[in-house]
Amino acid sequence: MSAKRVDPITSLKPGRYDYRIKVRVIRKWRGSTKEGEVFKAFNIVLLDNMTYLTDVVGIVKKYEFLDLTNKLGKDKKQAKFIITDGSSNVKVIFWDKYSENFDKAMNEQVEKPVIVILSACKAGLWNDEVELSNVSATKYYLNYNHHSVLQLRKRMNQPKFVDIAMATTETRKIEQLKINQITKLGKEYIKSQVMLLVQIKSVVDTQSWFMHTCTTCDHETELNNGIFICKNCPRTVPHPDTKYKIHVIASDDTSDLEVIMHDREVRTLIGRRARDVFDEQSNIHALPTCLKNLAKKNYTVMLRIREENVVDHFQVYWTTNICNGFTSEQQQTMENNNDRPQSSSQATYSTYQEQRASSGNM
Ligand SMILES: [Zn+2]
Repeated sequence: MSAKRVDPITSLKPGRYDYRIKVRVIRKWRGSTKEGEVFKAFNIVLLDNMTYLTDVVGIVKKYEFLDLTNKLGKDKKQAKFIITDGSSNVKVIFWDKYSENFDKAMNEQVEKPVIVILSACKAGLWNDEVELSNVSATKYYLNYNHHSVLQLRKRMNQPKFVDIAMATTETRKIEQLKINQITKLGKEYIKSQVMLLVQIKSVVDTQSWFMHTCTTCDHETELNNGIFICKNCPRTVPHPDTKYKIHVIASDDTSDLEVIMHDREVRTLIGRRARDVFDEQSNIHALPTCLKNLAKKNYTVMLRIREENVVDHFQVYWTTNICNGFTSEQQQTMENNNDRPQSSSQATYSTYQEQRASSGNM
């Protein structure tokens, strides 16, 4: 079968002429000169089966444009928003030049909220949630005169629809649980967040403490014949970023739990970037001291429960937020637990949203 192997577009490099690709032409156009002469060549956009494109329409909410351009002046801009049809919400992120153009177009819109049609955008999974982003074929239409847009606009006249569709904060409380409860959660907990008060017993040193990520989209890259590949973009990444990804064993008075912490959480705790720590290590496979020192201390941890945790009983969990110690509110409630069993031993989602936002990272 190897003779019939198909190469993904991401693996193509100049200088070789024996690739086999299986693609669909999704855009084709001819350029023309200033004098209006048609060029002989065609421009085509190819799509292989590594990528899935989709068309969606929705009301734009929580729109923000972020300029994350780094010190080296490398462009890293983002237009981030959520689109909703009133019953479901989907996250959208556009990148770099595309996001700048989109931002300009958004600012020109008079009619608010803006209703967007996205054509041929890419649907990916990121932390168990669908996330749409742009590829070269993606087009957007803002407040376009189309029946699907008009229909949504009409529904915006109903106050009840607006309340539900445009709600920006989840009012649902986040439950504080013990570790032995985490492994028994039912399907209703999938995608929801829970809070734990734990001690990190140890940082696992048999797993790598860092990952190489795509400089465009921050997804973890895969190493293939010495070349880093981002399957999300999809493209090769010649100089990937270094980010933290550590496994820790968390414990409370009921049990132990293996938890994965990503870059933002680790960076919040130790105040140093993975790249700087990486550069100092004489042996990159050994666990750096600053990470080892995370052990034997108390933390308040937020986890997001994923489908595989509940359905497949996958026993490793992912943090979405962490802070040192037990938050004062928590401690107080814990101390008063006996007299006030109904007290608010729960933080609201929005509190954590604010913390996330103020950390200045996605
Ligand atoms: Zn990428």
